[in-house]
Amino acid sequence: MRNGEVSYWWQARGIPPRRPSLPGGTEADVCIVGAGYTGLWIAYYLKRADPGLRIVVLEASFAGFGASGRNGGWVTAALPGSRARYARHPQGTSGVRELERQLRDTVDEVARVCAAPRMPGCATGWSRNGRGETTPRSLGI
Ligand SMILES: Cc1cc2nc3c(=O)[nH]c(=O)nc-3n(C[C@H](O)[C@H](O)[C@H](O)COP(=O)(O)OP(=O)(O)OC[C@H]3O[C@@H](n4cnc5c(N)ncnc54)[C@H](O)[C@@H]3O)c2cc1C
Repeated sequence: MRNGEVSYWWQARGIPPRRPSLPGGTEADVCIVGAGYTGLWIAYYLKRADPGLRIVVLEASFAGFGASGRNGGWVTAALPGSRARYARHPQGTSGVRELERQLRDTVDEVARVCAAPRMPGCATGWSRNGRGETTPRSLGI
């Protein structure tokens, strides 16, 4: 078995054409390296907070090339690891509860942003299970 190719999602949809490299140097207020979920959400919230910001997202391959384009498609609030382990941190059990609350809020936030009219290509439908998790019915990144 060979690992490391693009994901099922990208193979099903077709790999996007490669964008040309920057023609030379450029200036920006913020430079984000990596167009995965982390980089793109940061760009989204920064731009919302200050529409005048010049933001450059540098991506070595294409948006969603990494784990963000290869995952199971679950928008999940599941804590990645055991509660007991997180509770050993200085914030203790109340910190874990707060983290879980924020994780649950994140699921709603993803749905809210994707439902916004100016988000074409975002997931178009959701099924929500009893744990508050959602699965997009179409690919959205
Ligand atoms: C198999 C699998 C299944 C998963 N399933 C789920 C799931 O169902 N639900 C869920 O919530 N999470 C899931 N996850 C976790 C989730 O996908 C990741 O936590 C998330 O995608 C990480 O996003 P990221 O932006 O931090 O990293 P990445 O998506 O990896 O993005 C990093 C980007 O940076 C680029 N890059 C790296 N170095 C450079 C450089 N020097 N210059 C320019 N660009 C660079 C890469 O090409 C890449 O596009 C899964 C992960 C995997 C691997």
